Amino acid sequence: MKKLIAFDLDGTLAPSKSPLPERISEVLGELLNNFQVCVISGGDFKQFNKQLLSNLKLDDNQLSRLHLMPTCGTKYYTFDKSENNWKKLYSEDIPEEDKRRIKIALLKALDEYGYKEDKTYGELVEDRESQLTLSTLGQDVVDVLGEKGIEMKENWDKDNKKKNNIRNYASNIVTDYEFKVGGLTSIDVTKPGIDKAYGMKKLMEHLELEKKDILFIGDRLMEGGNDYPVKAMGIDSIEISDWHQTAVAVNAIIHMS
Ligand SMILES: [Mg+2]
Repeated sequence: MKKLIAFDLDGTLAPSKSPLPERISEVLGELLNNFQVCVISGGDFKQFNKQLLSNLKLDDNQLSRLHLMPTCGTKYYTFDKSENNWKKLYSEDIPEEDKRRIKIALLKALDEYGYKEDKTYGELVEDRESQLTLSTLGQDVVDVLGEKGIEMKENWDKDNKKKNNIRNYASNIVTDYEFKVGGLTSIDVTKPGIDKAYGMKKLMEHLELEKKDILFIGDRLMEGGNDYPVKAMGIDSIEISDWHQTAVAVNAIIHMS
Protein backbone atom coordinates (compact mmCIF):
# COMPACT_ATOMS: atom_id res chain seq x y z
CA MET A 1 0.00 0.00 0.00
CA LYS A 2 1.45 3.35 -1.08
CA LYS A 3 1.54 6.18 1.43
CA LEU A 4 2.45 9.03 -0.87
CA ILE A 5 1.59 9.81 -4.48
CA ALA A 6 4.05 12.17 -6.17
CA PHE A 7 3.35 14.14 -9.34
CA ASP A 8 5.25 16.12 -11.88
CA LEU A 9 3.45 19.43 -12.57
CA ASP A 10 3.86 20.61 -16.16
CA GLY A 11 2.34 18.18 -18.66
CA THR A 12 1.12 15.88 -15.88
CA LEU A 13 -1.27 17.83 -13.65
CA ALA A 14 -1.76 20.70 -16.08
CA PRO A 15 -0.94 21.61 -19.68
CA SER A 16 2.41 23.38 -19.98
CA LYS A 17 2.46 26.70 -18.08
CA SER A 18 -1.35 26.58 -17.81
CA PRO A 19 -3.73 26.43 -14.86
CA LEU A 20 -4.82 23.15 -13.32
CA PRO A 21 -7.95 21.78 -15.04
CA GLU A 22 -11.07 21.55 -12.86
CA ARG A 23 -11.14 17.76 -13.13
CA ILE A 24 -7.59 17.44 -11.75
CA SER A 25 -8.45 19.78 -8.92
CA GLU A 26 -11.34 17.47 -7.98
CA VAL A 27 -9.43 14.19 -8.08
CA LEU A 28 -6.48 15.67 -6.18
CA GLY A 29 -8.86 16.72 -3.43
CA GLU A 30 -10.23 13.19 -3.19
CA LEU A 31 -6.76 11.70 -3.25
CA LEU A 32 -5.67 13.97 -0.39
CA ASN A 33 -8.35 12.48 1.84
CA ASN A 34 -6.40 9.23 1.93
CA PHE A 35 -2.82 9.89 0.83
CA GLN A 36 0.08 12.26 1.24
CA VAL A 37 0.63 14.03 -2.07
CA CYS A 38 3.79 15.65 -3.38
CA VAL A 39 4.15 17.87 -6.44
CA ILE A 40 7.70 18.25 -7.73
CA SER A 41 8.82 20.41 -10.64
CA GLY A 42 11.77 22.34 -12.02
CA GLY A 43 9.68 25.52 -11.76
CA ASP A 44 9.79 27.97 -8.89
CA PHE A 45 7.19 28.40 -6.11
CA LYS A 46 5.77 31.34 -8.07
CA GLN A 47 4.88 28.90 -10.84
CA PHE A 48 3.30 26.46 -8.32
CA ASN A 49 1.18 29.28 -7.00
CA LYS A 50 0.01 30.35 -10.42
CA GLN A 51 -0.66 26.91 -11.92
CA LEU A 52 -1.55 24.74 -8.95
CA LEU A 53 -2.47 26.48 -5.70
CA SER A 54 -4.73 29.15 -7.12
CA ASN A 55 -6.84 26.40 -8.71
CA LEU A 56 -7.20 24.04 -5.75
CA LYS A 57 -10.17 24.05 -3.42
CA LEU A 58 -8.98 22.17 -0.36
CA ASP A 59 -9.70 22.22 3.34
CA ASP A 60 -6.97 22.51 5.97
CA ASN A 61 -6.67 18.75 6.48
CA GLN A 62 -6.22 18.12 2.78
CA LEU A 63 -3.73 20.99 2.51
CA SER A 64 -1.70 19.60 5.40
CA ARG A 65 -1.07 16.41 3.37
CA LEU A 66 0.26 18.32 0.37
CA HIS A 67 4.03 18.67 -0.09
CA LEU A 68 5.43 21.12 -2.62
CA MET A 69 8.91 20.76 -4.04
CA PRO A 70 9.77 23.59 -6.43
CA THR A 71 13.07 23.68 -8.33
CA CYS A 72 13.44 19.89 -8.07
CA GLY A 73 13.24 19.77 -4.31
CA THR A 74 15.94 22.33 -3.56
CA LYS A 75 13.00 24.05 -1.87
CA TYR A 76 10.31 22.39 0.22
CA TYR A 77 6.98 23.93 1.29
CA THR A 78 4.20 22.61 3.48
CA PHE A 79 0.97 24.20 4.64
CA ASP A 80 0.99 25.79 8.08
CA LYS A 81 -2.54 25.56 9.50
CA SER A 82 -1.96 28.04 12.31
CA GLU A 83 -0.70 30.71 9.91
CA ASN A 84 -3.04 29.63 7.12
CA ASN A 85 -0.20 29.91 4.66
CA TRP A 86 2.55 28.02 2.86
CA LYS A 87 5.73 27.74 4.80
CA LYS A 88 9.19 27.15 3.38
CA LEU A 89 10.89 24.36 5.33
CA TYR A 90 14.19 24.88 3.61
CA SER A 91 15.77 26.41 0.55
CA GLU A 92 19.24 25.45 -0.61
CA ASP A 93 20.29 28.80 -1.98
CA ILE A 94 23.27 29.39 -4.22
CA PRO A 95 25.79 31.74 -2.52
CA GLU A 96 25.72 35.31 -3.88
CA GLU A 97 29.32 35.16 -5.06
CA ASP A 98 28.56 32.04 -7.12
CA LYS A 99 25.42 33.64 -8.57
CA ARG A 100 27.56 36.53 -9.74
CA ARG A 101 30.08 34.21 -11.44
CA ILE A 102 27.30 32.25 -13.15
CA LYS A 103 25.54 35.36 -14.38
CA ILE A 104 28.73 36.79 -15.85
CA ALA A 105 29.47 33.49 -17.63
CA LEU A 106 25.98 33.29 -19.16
CA LEU A 107 26.04 36.88 -20.41
CA LYS A 108 29.55 36.42 -21.76
CA ALA A 109 28.35 33.40 -23.73
CA LEU A 110 25.57 35.50 -25.31
CA ASP A 111 28.12 38.16 -26.26
CA GLU A 112 30.66 35.71 -27.56
CA TYR A 113 28.24 34.10 -30.02
CA GLY A 114 26.35 37.28 -30.90
CA TYR A 115 23.10 35.89 -29.47
CA LYS A 116 22.27 39.01 -27.55
CA GLU A 117 18.90 40.38 -28.75
CA ASP A 118 18.44 44.13 -29.28
CA LYS A 119 15.11 44.05 -27.54
CA THR A 120 14.41 41.80 -24.56
CA TYR A 121 11.50 41.59 -22.11
CA GLY A 122 12.24 41.58 -18.40
CA GLU A 123 15.28 40.08 -16.77
CA LEU A 124 17.64 37.90 -18.76
CA VAL A 125 18.93 35.98 -15.77
CA GLU A 126 16.29 35.21 -13.17
CA ASP A 127 17.39 34.49 -9.62
CA ARG A 128 15.35 31.59 -8.21
CA GLU A 129 17.66 31.39 -5.17
CA SER A 130 18.54 27.72 -5.60
CA GLN A 131 18.64 28.04 -9.39
CA LEU A 132 19.54 30.69 -11.93
CA THR A 133 17.71 30.71 -15.24
CA LEU A 134 18.83 32.48 -18.39
CA SER A 135 16.00 33.36 -20.77
CA THR A 136 17.48 34.73 -23.94
CA LEU A 137 14.46 36.87 -24.86
CA GLY A 138 13.81 37.90 -21.26
CA GLN A 139 11.64 36.32 -18.56
CA ASP A 140 8.53 38.30 -19.46
CA VAL A 141 8.38 37.92 -23.22
CA VAL A 142 5.17 35.86 -23.14
CA ASP A 143 3.52 38.03 -20.46
CA VAL A 144 4.23 41.13 -22.55
CA LEU A 145 3.66 39.86 -26.08
CA GLY A 146 1.30 36.89 -25.59
CA GLU A 147 1.00 34.61 -28.63
CA LYS A 148 3.67 36.60 -30.45
CA GLY A 149 6.05 35.94 -27.56
CA ILE A 150 5.41 32.19 -27.71
CA GLU A 151 6.05 32.26 -31.44
CA MET A 152 9.31 34.17 -30.93
CA LYS A 153 10.43 31.62 -28.37
CA GLU A 154 9.58 28.72 -30.67
CA ASN A 155 11.55 30.22 -33.50
CA TRP A 156 14.57 31.37 -31.55
CA ASP A 157 16.52 28.11 -31.51
CA LYS A 158 14.64 25.28 -33.19
CA ASP A 159 17.61 22.90 -33.41
CA ASN A 160 18.94 23.65 -29.89
CA LYS A 161 22.27 24.73 -31.35
CA LYS A 162 22.32 28.14 -29.71
CA LYS A 163 21.33 26.80 -26.30
CA ASN A 164 23.96 24.06 -26.51
CA ASN A 165 26.60 26.63 -27.44
CA ILE A 166 25.68 28.85 -24.50
CA ARG A 167 25.60 25.91 -22.12
CA ASN A 168 28.97 24.57 -23.27
CA TYR A 169 30.64 27.97 -23.21
CA ALA A 170 29.37 29.01 -19.78
CA SER A 171 29.97 25.62 -18.17
CA ASN A 172 33.60 25.80 -19.27
CA ILE A 173 33.98 29.03 -17.31
CA VAL A 174 32.02 27.95 -14.23
CA THR A 175 32.91 24.31 -13.79
CA ASP A 176 31.49 23.67 -10.32
CA TYR A 177 27.83 24.11 -11.36
CA GLU A 178 25.57 22.23 -13.73
CA PHE A 179 24.17 23.99 -16.81
CA LYS A 180 21.13 22.37 -18.39
CA VAL A 181 19.04 23.33 -21.37
CA GLY A 182 15.62 24.11 -19.90
CA GLY A 183 12.79 25.37 -22.11
CA LEU A 184 12.80 26.78 -25.64
CA THR A 185 15.06 29.73 -24.82
CA SER A 186 16.37 28.92 -21.37
CA ILE A 187 19.35 27.49 -19.55
CA ASP A 188 18.97 26.38 -15.92
CA VAL A 189 21.94 26.45 -13.59
CA THR A 190 22.04 24.52 -10.30
CA LYS A 191 24.48 22.78 -8.04
CA PRO A 192 25.52 19.49 -9.65
CA GLY A 193 23.27 16.46 -9.20
CA ILE A 194 19.98 18.30 -8.71
CA ASP A 195 17.09 16.48 -10.40
CA LYS A 196 13.74 15.05 -9.31
CA ALA A 197 15.45 12.02 -7.73
CA TYR A 198 17.31 14.45 -5.48
CA GLY A 199 13.99 15.98 -4.44
CA MET A 200 12.41 12.59 -3.77
CA LYS A 201 15.32 11.61 -1.52
CA LYS A 202 14.89 14.82 0.47
CA LEU A 203 11.19 14.13 0.84
CA MET A 204 11.79 10.54 1.97
CA GLU A 205 14.19 11.81 4.65
CA HIS A 206 11.72 14.39 5.90
CA LEU A 207 8.70 12.09 5.99
CA GLU A 208 10.64 8.95 6.93
CA LEU A 209 9.31 7.09 3.92
CA GLU A 210 10.87 4.32 1.88
CA LYS A 211 10.88 4.02 -1.89
CA LYS A 212 8.20 1.34 -1.77
CA ASP A 213 5.84 3.77 0.00
CA ILE A 214 5.79 6.10 -3.00
CA LEU A 215 4.14 6.08 -6.41
CA PHE A 216 5.28 8.68 -8.94
CA ILE A 217 3.27 9.94 -11.92
CA GLY A 218 4.92 11.94 -14.69
CA ASP A 219 4.85 12.65 -18.41
CA ARG A 220 8.56 12.29 -19.18
CA LEU A 221 9.75 9.01 -17.73
CA MET A 222 11.70 7.85 -20.78
CA GLU A 223 15.48 7.93 -20.46
CA GLY A 224 16.62 11.54 -20.87
CA GLY A 225 13.26 12.90 -19.68
CA ASN A 226 13.15 15.12 -16.61
CA ASP A 227 11.06 12.54 -14.69
CA TYR A 228 13.36 9.63 -15.53
CA PRO A 229 15.68 10.04 -12.49
CA VAL A 230 12.77 9.15 -10.17
CA LYS A 231 12.11 5.88 -11.98
CA ALA A 232 15.84 5.18 -12.23
CA MET A 233 16.24 5.42 -8.44
CA GLY A 234 13.69 2.62 -8.08
CA ILE A 235 10.43 4.37 -7.24
CA ASP A 236 7.34 2.79 -8.85
CA SER A 237 6.32 5.13 -11.64
CA ILE A 238 3.46 5.56 -14.07
CA GLU A 239 3.95 7.43 -17.32
CA ILE A 240 0.99 9.37 -18.60
CA SER A 241 0.80 11.43 -21.79
CA ASP A 242 -1.43 14.24 -20.54
CA TRP A 243 -3.59 15.37 -17.61
CA HIS A 244 -6.61 13.38 -18.83
CA GLN A 245 -4.65 10.18 -18.23
CA THR A 246 -3.49 11.51 -14.88
CA ALA A 247 -7.13 11.93 -13.87
CA VAL A 248 -7.87 8.33 -14.88
CA ALA A 249 -4.83 7.01 -12.98
CA VAL A 250 -5.71 8.99 -9.83
CA ASN A 251 -9.28 7.77 -10.00
CA ALA A 252 -8.04 4.18 -10.16
CA ILE A 253 -5.80 4.75 -7.12
CA ILE A 254 -8.67 6.25 -5.14
CA HIS A 255 -11.00 3.34 -5.90
CA MET A 256 -8.38 0.69 -5.18
CA SER A 257 -7.55 2.11 -1.77
MG1 LIG B 1 6.41 17.32 -17.14
